[in-house]
Amino acid sequence: NKEASSNFIKNIINEDLSSGKVQEIVTRFPPEPNGYLHIGHAKSIVINFGLADDFKGKTNLRFDDTNPLKEDVEYVDSIKEDVSWLGFEWEGLHYASNYFEEMYDRAVLLIKKGLAYVEDLSADEIREYRGTLTEPGKESPSRNRSIEENLDLFERMKHGEFKDGEKVLRAKIDMSSPNINMRDPVLYRIAHATHHNTGDKWCIYPMYAFAHPIEDAIEGVTHSLCTTEFEDQRPLYNWVVEKCEMEAKPQQIEFARLNLTNTVMSKRKLKQLVDENYVDGWDDPRLPTISGLRRRGFTPESIVAFCQEIGVSKGNSIVDVQMLEHFIREDLKLKAPRTMAILRPLKVVITNYPEGQVEMLDAENNPENPEMGIRQIPFSREIYIEQEDFMENPPKKYFRLFPGNEVRLKHAYFIKCEEVIKDEEGNVVELHCTYDPETKSGTGFTGRKVKGTIHWVDASQAKRAEFRLYDSLILDDEEQEGKSFLENVNPHSLEILNGFVEPNMEDAKANDKFQFFRHGYFNVDPKHTTEDHLVFNRIVSLKSSFKL
Ligand code: ATP
Ligand code: MG
Ligand code: MG
Repeated sequence: NKEASSNFIKNIINEDLSSGKVQEIVTRFPPEPNGYLHIGHAKSIVINFGLADDFKGKTNLRFDDTNPLKEDVEYVDSIKEDVSWLGFEWEGLHYASNYFEEMYDRAVLLIKKGLAYVEDLSADEIREYRGTLTEPGKESPSRNRSIEENLDLFERMKHGEFKDGEKVLRAKIDMSSPNINMRDPVLYRIAHATHHNTGDKWCIYPMYAFAHPIEDAIEGVTHSLCTTEFEDQRPLYNWVVEKCEMEAKPQQIEFARLNLTNTVMSKRKLKQLVDENYVDGWDDPRLPTISGLRRRGFTPESIVAFCQEIGVSKGNSIVDVQMLEHFIREDLKLKAPRTMAILRPLKVVITNYPEGQVEMLDAENNPENPEMGIRQIPFSREIYIEQEDFMENPPKKYFRLFPGNEVRLKHAYFIKCEEVIKDEEGNVVELHCTYDPETKSGTGFTGRKVKGTIHWVDASQAKRAEFRLYDSLILDDEEQEGKSFLENVNPHSLEILNGFVEPNMEDAKANDKFQFFRHGYFNVDPKHTTEDHLVFNRIVSLKSSFKL
């Protein structure tokens, strides 16, 4: 099976299956519901669900909700929506918080085995006692409490007799271990806070390092995939599984986090951008969140294809965001209808075209995909073109409109610029042109050639539309010491333009995607579009220097 042996995780799974260590693969995607999912999570989703798929196993969606202070059902709901939208179906839907009782029992078991103790030191003192890479830790005076005393104190912690931070439960492992994670890590802390799932039932909460292996083992997860910053925690993960006497023995395997250029990915930073109104919510089209990418116009297919291309490496690297853009262009190339839109309108009057006359012209919907057929677009005496397609004093090699020059109007006729109309301040406000009826598109006219083809929309029937053009949200990926990433936020990441689209766009619905001739791919914004106000987000421009 070539596909099944193309990365190091697949190699491990293949071995585990053939040695009989596991019968069936079970993976999980375990987000903490403290924010919306981003493209980095998509990588983890594609790896976890993809492996289960390749090996005919299962994948659970599990909310790793052990920190009541930061979690919310809004996030739970958005995560479910995003995973489904990406096209993945989970086997079980689980909440770590549903295992609190069992986790508590396992902690009690550790105490009874002399492997955990209640600590009185403050967080700062614990840190101090923990030592450094070059210095062994010091044992806490609490370390030698009797099992009875520990059982009693832990129960009283559970019953709410202590304040936040007054006590914690620690594993009793080895204060001089070269791996700092093994120097009596904290297993439980006190937090008098309401939890989104368990309400006020608990006031002690398990730490990630204790909770995660237990969650995996309870669910029979065979391969617990996480990012490389947890590599040093693997011995602790195995310690918890073993000492808590978990029946199943899940195996932790690490892969590299995805980083993208010109954006931020940590939920903490994303939340800050949202909370401090740098962006228009978690689904702002400039964010690398799944909901932001969706609103921008990315398709699930393009995101999954991108994740498959970057694969599963162990080395951390920063992927160029242009690679993601490459995949949406590829996906939409044959799918998106091509139409004309004018982003910065300039009125053109065709003075020799009969007043009041409207004709319908044939236009291909996608020259690369003839199956998409032909639409009809109106043409009459007044049209709009792009401001940038006219220059009064053009430089050399400018082949668009200028006084006396002739260009082709896409799908229509040749027009020639005869007169430039200006306002009192000297701004060009209108052009007067003539057209040549002989040059109609599709008639095979060969009499003479023009060098420029420009796009246009009929002024009498065009629909008004708003266009939102985006630039990178983060200008410089290098974070300077002592400076917040907020100082790297691009103040010009959004440009809003008002122009026109073809009249047939009247029927456009939220999230419909188009290629606007010469401008790029656009998505109908689902948030700001209303019955009589169309808003388009530019997904990507047409060209890129990026090569796969
Ligand atoms: P963040 O630091 O962005 O908040 P996290 O790792 O705390 O991310 P979780 O909700 O715990 O977020 O992540 C769920 C799963 O997604 C984890 O298994 C985690 O390793 C994985 N994951 C998160 N960010 C990335 C990323 N950038 N690349 C690959 N996998 C990621
Ligand atoms: Mg996490
Ligand atoms: Mg986090």
